[in-house]
Amino acid sequence: MEIKKKDIRALTKDQLRNFFVEQGDKPFRGNQVYEWLWRKSAHSFEAMTNISKETRSMLENAFVINHIQVDQMQKSSDGTIKNAVKLHDELIVESVLIPTETRTTACVSSQVGCSLDCKFCATARLKRMRNLNPDEIYDQVVAIDNQSRLYFDRPLSNIVFMGMGEPLMNYNNVLKAIDKITLPEGLGMSPKRITVSTSGVPKMIKKMADEEVKFNLAVSLHSAIDEVRTSIMPFNATFPLKDLREALEYWYAKTKNRITYEYVVWKGINDTQKDVDALVKFCQFAPSKVNLIEYNPIDDGEFQQASDAALQMYQDTLQKNRIIVTVRKSRGKDIDAACGQLANKS
Ligand code: SF4
Repeated sequence: MEIKKKDIRALTKDQLRNFFVEQGDKPFRGNQVYEWLWRKSAHSFEAMTNISKETRSMLENAFVINHIQVDQMQKSSDGTIKNAVKLHDELIVESVLIPTETRTTACVSSQVGCSLDCKFCATARLKRMRNLNPDEIYDQVVAIDNQSRLYFDRPLSNIVFMGMGEPLMNYNNVLKAIDKITLPEGLGMSPKRITVSTSGVPKMIKKMADEEVKFNLAVSLHSAIDEVRTSIMPFNATFPLKDLREALEYWYAKTKNRITYEYVVWKGINDTQKDVDALVKFCQFAPSKVNLIEYNPIDDGEFQQASDAALQMYQDTLQKNRIIVTVRKSRGKDIDAACGQLANKS
């Protein structure tokens, strides 16, 4: 009977050190292998050239190194790159590199598909198959960092968890991946350059506040009126705005970090003065920033970008109330890489 080998990257550094002690070797060997696995992103034991041949073959017999593969890469006319990423079990997720003049941002996935059912989102049409492991999230970042160096001659500068899936529904693995991304033995990136974007899971927002995480929080709000939000994000019926707001107040009291809201204004859905007034009322309790994101229709047009006049009304009202507002042009539209468009169509 074939014995299923364990993924070596599921081991913590201490577990790896202990493994070598049990083999009669030095704990330091664990540090060396750990460095190969994470900082150097080795995809084979063969590549670990400062480890003896015998040790490498012992590892080969005991473990596998599961790793992702960029199966397909598409480049947009605006420089955006979309990757179809194959996982060790053949499932596919997508990640995106978004270049601007001053930064390169990786938009990464946290789940295969999504269990939430946001009506405007292409990923919602894919059933949630499973959560991504920490190494699968980490590898997406490494792949995009490599592409950034190759095509734009600079390292990756920012990461947003805005790809496929709801990151707070895969909280432990997302946190473990962020640890690896930020620790010197991983990529050594500042947590301030990482943003976890959630559709708003109150219990998990409070947990993040209690754990004093150092990365940024963004909330995909899209409406501050319960009936409207529930009609486009049905889970709002379970986690209504009152609970979300209470969790965000808790977050702010603990972290004193500004809250960013992602917000799309759609024609006939949330484009009236009443909608923007509700938004102002919702976010006034803490320093806030609202990103008004351009929308990319995903099919027959139930959701259409609102008029310029409606967008201007949002900007004017928010500014009048001293809330920072930015308008985000969508990137990678021609390759279905824009917000809400990731759906494994490539
Ligand atoms: S918008 Fe995010 S949370 Fe909502 S269905 Fe899409 S991937 Fe899931």
